[in-house]
Amino acid sequence: MGRLDGKVALVSGGGGGLGAAISRLFAAEGARVVVGDVRDAAGAEVASAIGASGGHARFVHLDVTSERDWRDAVAAAVSGHGRLDVLVNNAGIWRGGRVEETSVEHWDAVNDVNSKGVFLGTRAAIPAMRAGGGGSIVNVSSISGIVGNPRTSAYAASKGAIRVFTKATAIQYAPDGIRANSIHPGPIDTDLLAQVVESLEIEEFAPAPLGRVGKAEDVAFGALYLASDESSFVTGSELVIDGGATAE
Ligand code: NAD
Repeated sequence: MGRLDGKVALVSGGGGGLGAAISRLFAAEGARVVVGDVRDAAGAEVASAIGASGGHARFVHLDVTSERDWRDAVAAAVSGHGRLDVLVNNAGIWRGGRVEETSVEHWDAVNDVNSKGVFLGTRAAIPAMRAGGGGSIVNVSSISGIVGNPRTSAYAASKGAIRVFTKATAIQYAPDGIRANSIHPGPIDTDLLAQVVESLEIEEFAPAPLGRVGKAEDVAFGALYLASDESSFVTGSELVIDGGATAE
């Protein structure tokens, strides 16, 4: 028995990092997974590796800033599997810069992917979830969406927007049986973190109180709980997965 048996899940940014780990874990727990990513080769590879290990996954090209791509991705889930139960709005990009170092182009690029992308995905998924009697939307924010970050402004704003947009979604669609929750990872070992470390010209991230940087699987287990019926009384909540970083 898998914890997501019978469910169909769409994961944005599934071609790498947290999205790939979430896609793999969801498939291992019985979900049929639609892996969406703007990087076709990486996304297709994740889907085929899941298939090779006995899971169900297919890849769809998805740029989360495109309304048409979202329409096609949701249609792929519904036409391929008859329903959509879970959406993980995971795709995101990071750029550093204090307020004065943030150009309008930088602000728009980050907020387009991280914030508008979550809105477009949510809006596209709701009708399919409602038609199936409900669903679970899991939005990947950041601890930068909860506490101030000295190194980034546009990214922090985009992640804060996700946090409260999730609560608005939760309240608005609770009557339809659609839940929405946000996840707030601290530093997790992915390409994105490597890019942060490189652009800040630091050796590595200081370990969290638990003494290490997180693994993608640490976040995937949180997403699994929120996607599954185990969290059926949980909506509008914030799951912090940061090794204790924001508890200090
Ligand atoms: P990553 O760079 O390793 O992977 C991100 C994936 O998203 C890539 O496969 C990329 O191709 C895809 N992507 C980028 N832009 C896209 C677009 N427009 N449309 C579709 N796909 C797109 O990053 P990650 O660390 O796995 O990050 C995943 C999420 O977790 C992001 O929202 C990020 O902000 C958040 N997060 C990460 C950390 C961390 O330390 N790694 C911490 C907090 C929050």
